[in-house]
Amino acid sequence: MVEQKHLINGKWMPSLDGETIDVVSPSDGIVFAKLARGKKGDIDLAVGAARKAVSSGSWAKLTAVDRGRLLSRLGQKVLDNFEELAALEAKDTGKPLMQAKADITAAARYFEYYGGAADKVHGDTIPFMDGYMVSILREPHGVTGHIIPWNYPAQMYGRSLAPALAMGNAVVLKPAEEACMTSIRMSELAMDVGFPEGAINIITGLGEEAGASLSEHPDINFLSFTGSPEVGTIVQTAAAKNHVGCVLELGGKSPQIIFEDADIESALPVVVNAIVQNGGQTCSAGSRLMLQKSVYDKYLELIADKFKELKVGSHEMDLNCGPLISTVQKERVEGFLDRANSDGIKVVAEGTIAKGVPEGGYYVKPTLFADVPRDNSLACDEVFGPVLSAIPFDDESDAVHLANATEYGLVTGVWTRDGARQIRMAKNVKAGQIYVNAYGAGGGIELPFGGVKKSGHGREKGFEALYEFCSTKTIVFKHD
Ligand code: NAD
Repeated sequence: MVEQKHLINGKWMPSLDGETIDVVSPSDGIVFAKLARGKKGDIDLAVGAARKAVSSGSWAKLTAVDRGRLLSRLGQKVLDNFEELAALEAKDTGKPLMQAKADITAAARYFEYYGGAADKVHGDTIPFMDGYMVSILREPHGVTGHIIPWNYPAQMYGRSLAPALAMGNAVVLKPAEEACMTSIRMSELAMDVGFPEGAINIITGLGEEAGASLSEHPDINFLSFTGSPEVGTIVQTAAAKNHVGCVLELGGKSPQIIFEDADIESALPVVVNAIVQNGGQTCSAGSRLMLQKSVYDKYLELIADKFKELKVGSHEMDLNCGPLISTVQKERVEGFLDRANSDGIKVVAEGTIAKGVPEGGYYVKPTLFADVPRDNSLACDEVFGPVLSAIPFDDESDAVHLANATEYGLVTGVWTRDGARQIRMAKNVKAGQIYVNAYGAGGGIELPFGGVKKSGHGREKGFEALYEFCSTKTIVFKHD
């Protein structure tokens, strides 16, 4: 069985204490690899290697052009190994192969995009008093710590690391213990294309061990975390204790707001896909279906018809949904379904689990609930499974009120043909991204992404991410 190691200072090594963690495929529950179980000592070594890389190592000496070239080469290398990476991502996460392929394409795009951007972030000069010149430099933070989740491991690897590396930081990554095989494989590819030792370090392990040690480490200069709001609070507290900044990408309860004048035929496949993509285990899943009362019954029936056609199977069966990531996640989602049932909430449609799915996989049927009370947990809390909750609304002002009524604010979809309403809704709904007559759960490498409220703060993707991974230095020259 494959035993994966940590990457520290350009070398692959087991944990200091030799301990490992089993890697299970969610499609059948069978262990197919082992990960090194990193702890504080392993994190210390990785942070030390990264520190050397940014202070005296060859990484520190590279120009922005050369950093960009390395990132672009890694993007190409990911595409050269596309089929292998997609198959590995599908097996590790359980997601349908088609989804895994889209994820590997996106991972490569992050390296291409930030490879091209590395030499385009520059400082500024500021008009100041007579006899002065002021320069603004953008400098890397130094060593950045990255903690990512299991739902899109390959994409998260590119999304979190590529902008940090583009700006010249050296990175230490703690990927999720549930799924991180492609993060390891892409780091091997990074070594193949010539990233200098210490620029990229990976420590695999448990959140409360390796993750906590990384976020608390006194020699980390900035933290990037994607995951649950609960752990986000722990990471942010650790960052505050060390007086360093952090970007937090947390969960969501994103609404799809469908008005009576919407082009429902265009909306239907997008709205359904936005909740079943990746089995609903997407931070930006469109999990609240807000329908205007005048069309509620009619549109709900159309969406229910689509839900009944959904099929769930193993990653290799490549259907609409794969299994959930783990027994823990399956039990969590089933808990929501059981509570909705005991609250008397009506199921209007379910998908089916395909015949012949492997025993031991973590399969759950996609479920559409109707008339969900606005204060019910299904309407307010993140399920992180293929569960869609339909809620009626009266008019535009009620729609804004309802859209903003959860603790989250990540993404919103607005479906209407009325141009003025499109603009008003986009302005009045509180979220980091608003889609109008479209929805892009997780898509768009170029588009700044992140939340407000409990969905987090700071921005990833696009040029905004580059500004997160540097700090400005103001230099004032006096001349006569
Ligand atoms: P999680 O918070 O449990 O784990 C995320 C990462 O944090 C993992 O690598 C884990 O090992 C690590 N971790 C756990 N405990 C830690 C600790 N005490 N200290 C430091 N690190 C620790 O989240 P999850 O269950 O892996 O992912 C699901 C959640 O992530 C959902 O809430 C989802 O919405 C959110 N998510 C958000 C985005 C986004 O971009 N906003 C993307 C994906 C997932």
